[in-house]
Amino acid sequence: MKITGIRTHIVMPIDTLAWVFVEVDTDEGLSGLGECTEYIGNPHLVRGLEAIKPLVIGTDPRHIEEIWQRLFHAYSSLNGRGYISHLISAIDIALWDLRGKMLGVPIYDLLGGPVRDSVPLYTHVRDQWHSDDLNGMVSQAKQAKEQGYQAIKTDPFPQTQAAGSAFKGAHQVERLDPKSVAQALHWMEALREAVGPDYELMVDAHGRFDVASAIKASQALAPIDLVWFEEPTHVESDNALRQIRENTDVPLCAGERHFTRWDYWQLLNDRLVDYVMPDVAWCGGISEWRRIATMAEVQYIRVSPHDALGPVALAASFQLSMATPNLYREECLHTWFTRMAGLVTPFFDIRDGSIHPNGRPGLGLELNLDGIEDHRVNLEDLQARLPYS
Ligand SMILES: [Mg+2]
Repeated sequence: MKITGIRTHIVMPIDTLAWVFVEVDTDEGLSGLGECTEYIGNPHLVRGLEAIKPLVIGTDPRHIEEIWQRLFHAYSSLNGRGYISHLISAIDIALWDLRGKMLGVPIYDLLGGPVRDSVPLYTHVRDQWHSDDLNGMVSQAKQAKEQGYQAIKTDPFPQTQAAGSAFKGAHQVERLDPKSVAQALHWMEALREAVGPDYELMVDAHGRFDVASAIKASQALAPIDLVWFEEPTHVESDNALRQIRENTDVPLCAGERHFTRWDYWQLLNDRLVDYVMPDVAWCGGISEWRRIATMAEVQYIRVSPHDALGPVALAASFQLSMATPNLYREECLHTWFTRMAGLVTPFFDIRDGSIHPNGRPGLGLELNLDGIEDHRVNLEDLQARLPYS
């Protein structure tokens, strides 16, 4: 069996986000489906998927590990992370999907079989980072709880002067003044009040703050009893994270901006966090996510897949979550499900805030090509519509 082609679909059902799906074709008629959607780097990824074709086409799709290593080492001078690990992720997910289809089994069966009946989700309500509509946030939270979701995350920190808008001005490490910390606490108190004392809540700081601000914020939010405080500082410095760790009792989480097992090694070995959140479409695919989860298990650290944005990556995270013993929950944006449902078939079986397996082979879903055509954009359109263009 040989790989004969890589096809890319850029789909934009939301003005601010393009989903990048990948199909890996074979000479026996079967294709595997992958995804490497990113926020602003998608044009580079689409070009990269074109560039890696000579390394992938002609190889045996059953040799998933060999192809992973081939791509990683071919680009070792670019460090194999970020851009490269995203490309690897798309191909790796597609090869696991293909393998499952060849054998007629879900991917979780290839990973040792299920360790749970379904995968619990957590979802989001509005961030104060983007909007100070506190009443809107509270009603979103009540609605999500009524729909069966049992855990919610938000970024409660308001815009600071240094930051500007989320996309165009986030060039500086931000400092939280006392008023901003008080506003964040007020946001979280309102959320806690809305969902009750037994509900699971998380805070995402999106890597925005300096160490002193992050320590102050985590201490102020301690009474909320968070499951975790996520990415308090930017991810480049383990020392910064260590200093926060030594000055707070609030559990910490990081990982969506860590790629490959090598980025995770120090984080896990020094137990700098209580949860890690690799993104299957960014960290190196199903193969690498599985390795990172096992490394975390050694340190009794739970793993929680970062929401990989699109439905194919969500399906890959689901397959992994079914077979991962040290899982916390899978992240999702439940308000996007309606848009996702038009692009893949069948859509996820979501009940009581969990995704239930459908037993289908591979990822368990296919692209809905009519839905894809309705929202397809080309590379030039994509470039023109990006926030930085
Ligand atoms: Mg995050």
